[in-house]
Amino acid sequence: MVVGVLFAAVTVLRAVSDDATVPWAVLYVLPVGLLALSHGVAGGLTGTLVASLLYAALLTLEGGQLSAAMIPRFLSWATVGIGFGLLEQLRLRSARQAEGWFELSSDLLAEVDAEGHFVQVNEQWFRLLGHPAGSLVGKSYQDFVHPDDLEASRRAEASLSGGEMTINDFENRFVAADGRWHWILWSSRVKDGLIYSSGKDITDRKLAERAREDQLNSEHNAARSDELTGLPNRRAWEEELENEVSRSESGERNVALAILDLDNFKVLNDTQGHAAGDDHLRRCAAEWSKALRSTDFMARIGGEEFGILMPHCPPELAVRVVDRIRHLTPPPETCSAGIALLDRNETFSETMARADKALYLAKEGGRNRSVFEPA
Ligand code: GH3
Ligand code: MG
Ligand code: MG
Repeated sequence: MVVGVLFAAVTVLRAVSDDATVPWAVLYVLPVGLLALSHGVAGGLTGTLVASLLYAALLTLEGGQLSAAMIPRFLSWATVGIGFGLLEQLRLRSARQAEGWFELSSDLLAEVDAEGHFVQVNEQWFRLLGHPAGSLVGKSYQDFVHPDDLEASRRAEASLSGGEMTINDFENRFVAADGRWHWILWSSRVKDGLIYSSGKDITDRKLAERAREDQLNSEHNAARSDELTGLPNRRAWEEELENEVSRSESGERNVALAILDLDNFKVLNDTQGHAAGDDHLRRCAAEWSKALRSTDFMARIGGEEFGILMPHCPPELAVRVVDRIRHLTPPPETCSAGIALLDRNETFSETMARADKALYLAKEGGRNRSVFEPA
């Protein structure tokens, strides 16, 4: 349409112009160039032919004659037609190639604008996550990111917008159309105000890592917990004690250590049976745990012996806390306790020995009581 109007306009200008020195015919390059840009070389050559015919027709109508001097004029249209046509074909080819790679990629590819809206995404978004491209374009990527990953995602986006050219190792979770979360590892770069991102689905790897971590954690926990009561065992107790000793060396004072021992437990076992004894141990552990402060640590360190570590606990408070715990022992049973404060001049076994001595004194003193043994 525009091309036709241009051909007609140039022809009319030529026809009505009485100034023969103005080379109006040169303007045929405009419709010829336009045809070449829209239809390639074939369009350019067709335009050249139309321009030549119009030129010759008008010339004949005006009584003129075609001559060899006009050849450069025809050639100039042909040059523009072929040149522009070739440029257009090259542009089309590289656009098709880029589109081919874009759609072929097994990665999620996305172009995102400065406001975080999808400008373009490839087919993989549909194949992998079930989102058709049309449902994403114009939306904010943040609508699809896991709430726990939003803050980090915004920070990564801000660092790109703030001048960092590339990010290669950013991970976050994207929701699929079926509501499942996929872990994606992103490589992103910013160019001309747009963010270009390529994402790999690493969900399987993440799940395998998580399973491995869970297994290690459960192995770690199993190795440190007492099967009968579920409390930390002696191994965990010693580790915790060592940590507390090094904390107390670096300034923390008033870490109290107590050993609780059931009174005459052998009698309960002998009269009611071992299973009743086990049951009593379980109930003691459950009841005593209720009275612990959040910073206290209790472990089963022997058959009917339990250890408690109490940070920030001066001696008087330690005795009060331990007595409160002791009084939760399911009646009619009782228990005795020996208490000592960690001392930076002692090893933990020396402190344990002091608490043991206090426990012995409590038993000697008639049981069902707590004794504090100073360093
Ligand atoms: P004391 O007041 O002096 O501590 O007397 P006690 O009878 O509690 O102490 P003793 O050391 O003589 O006996 C401890 C008993 O605890 C003996 C042992 O069979 C019992 N015991 C140790 N571990 C377990 C266990 O896991 N289950 C049961 N049921 N009994 C246990
Ligand atoms: Mg004992
Ligand atoms: Mg005992």
